[in-house]
Amino acid sequence: MKKTGININLFLYCGLEKKELENIYPIIMERNVQLATKCNIGIIVLGLLLFGVNILLGYDNTAAYWVIVVGGITLLAFRMIFKKLNGIMAHVYCYALITTVLAFGMALSLQPGNANMPSTSFVVFLVLLPIVVNDKPYRMGLLMLFVTLTYQILCFFCKTGEALAADIINTATFSIIGYVLYILISNRSVREIFFWTQTAENERIREEARIAEEANKAKSNFLANMSHEIRTPMNAIIGLDEMILRESNDETAKKYAEDIKSAGNTLLSIINDILDLSKIETGKMELIPVNYELSSVINDIVNMTEKKAEDKNLKFNMKVEESIPSVLNGDEIRIRQILLNIINNAVKYTEKGSIDIYISFDRVTSVLKAVVKDTGIGIKPEDKERLFNSFLRLDETRNRNIEGTGLGLNISRQLAQMMDGTIEVESEYGKGSVFTITVVQKVADDTPMGDYTKRLEKARKEEKEYKPQLLAPDATLLVVDDNDMNIKVVKFLLKKTKIKITTALSGTECLELVKSNSYDIILLDQMMPGMSGVETLKAIRDLKLADDTPVIALTADAISGAKEMYIEQGFTDYLSKPIIYEELEKQLIEYLGDKAYVSSDVQ
Ligand code: ADP
Repeated sequence: MKKTGININLFLYCGLEKKELENIYPIIMERNVQLATKCNIGIIVLGLLLFGVNILLGYDNTAAYWVIVVGGITLLAFRMIFKKLNGIMAHVYCYALITTVLAFGMALSLQPGNANMPSTSFVVFLVLLPIVVNDKPYRMGLLMLFVTLTYQILCFFCKTGEALAADIINTATFSIIGYVLYILISNRSVREIFFWTQTAENERIREEARIAEEANKAKSNFLANMSHEIRTPMNAIIGLDEMILRESNDETAKKYAEDIKSAGNTLLSIINDILDLSKIETGKMELIPVNYELSSVINDIVNMTEKKAEDKNLKFNMKVEESIPSVLNGDEIRIRQILLNIINNAVKYTEKGSIDIYISFDRVTSVLKAVVKDTGIGIKPEDKERLFNSFLRLDETRNRNIEGTGLGLNISRQLAQMMDGTIEVESEYGKGSVFTITVVQKVADDTPMGDYTKRLEKARKEEKEYKPQLLAPDATLLVVDDNDMNIKVVKFLLKKTKIKITTALSGTECLELVKSNSYDIILLDQMMPGMSGVETLKAIRDLKLADDTPVIALTADAISGAKEMYIEQGFTDYLSKPIIYEELEKQLIEYLGDKAYVSSDVQ
């Protein structure tokens, strides 16, 4: 179609899109009603004034003033009765005002005294018209046409000679000028109102986003604090439970202690899941890429899941492509978390049959793929997508006895997506499911990793042969924690190591001790009244005390990146509460140097 160069929207919707104009129409009409009311009051005052002057001067041409005064007062009454004018009533009010003004102009021009003169008053009103309302231009065009034609027809009856010809030419000309003016003024102010509302809307959206962000921050702070608060007493529960496990000779008590340990670990993993989810939701989850050996991740996973499967009499087959590059680069911890979650689910939701896992790597696309197949309860087709919703567990009645929160799959899928990957599921209800995980991982060393089972066997053999038993009678350790129970736990865990332990219940006490004694290692709690752990460390370093002593941050914050943050603050390492003895032992062996003996050295 040929372009005319005229935008039809200028006539129909004041240069906006139809929808845009409709959205701001109530605001435009409100403004029209206000302006019309002000004009109406002005008109009544002016009408009365002119009326009075005419009567004083003795003219009897008062018909036009009757029109304006009566019309104006009627409209004012209308306005006072319908206080809130909107929709069609607002239109009636505004157009009635325009009609009154034009009728005044007509009456003034056509009254007998003016019949022989070309009239200027009516054309003036035609030009003034656009100021009162902003409506769709075509409506005003139709009104102008109607009014102009009506006036001209009336002129035939009321006017004569040259006055008639002049009026016809003038009204035709000025109604066009008035109409053009109307388009210009109306379009411009309608667009101004549009942009003004847009800005206000943007402002509102920004404000809402700010409030939402604040609420989110409050939520994640709450979760971080909650996790902290729960972890602190958990440290005592798990630590003291370990005491019973190690020292009690009563088999029943030991059995109960085992159950406490397992429930404690479940509770900790739930807290970790909730924290992960809140981090993902607030966009704070960060991947921390490192070089890692996939075979070691697979070892850990087999160690953690194979036994559970065997306990349920399930066959457990793990097949790993030998050509997978030996060292990959990615977030090892999160990869482990995803695989562990899917494989644990397969074991959890399978009663008989087998779990088959196949892991491969595509060197062209750099995609690491794991297929986990089970012969378990399966998933109904309609549940397949819902499966990934948070806190959603399927078949609640059937799965009541299976531990879980319904968070694992949601977190795993989001983590996989952060690694440019996916988790897909195929399943036949009652027969079993296949979960396929893909994630993109960089290659750090492309030598094929070979048979991972050899590595697994070797690791298991080493573990059997060599279990570190730390002994460090010459070493000195300072434990700083405001919680007496936590100090008790550390002391107990290290009892057999014979390390000389000194304790402090605050940062200030720690400073005093460090001033006059030297220690081989300091375990420094973070959240303490008065001086925090970070502040205490700063004070130690500022005073040039214990410059070479490794200081390990002890904290119940399990937030991701916590380790990096503490190391950045100057700590040597980081231990999260509840303290796991193996981790504490590993760090002590690493940082005590010559003063640490492990059982194989001792024997
Ligand atoms: P949960 O902690 O409940 O296991 P997940 O998010 O890991 O939470 O899983 C959500 C739900 O998906 C589970 O409650 C279970 O109903 C279903 N599901 C997960 N894996 C399997 C599977 N391999 N076979 C059958 N159902 C499964």
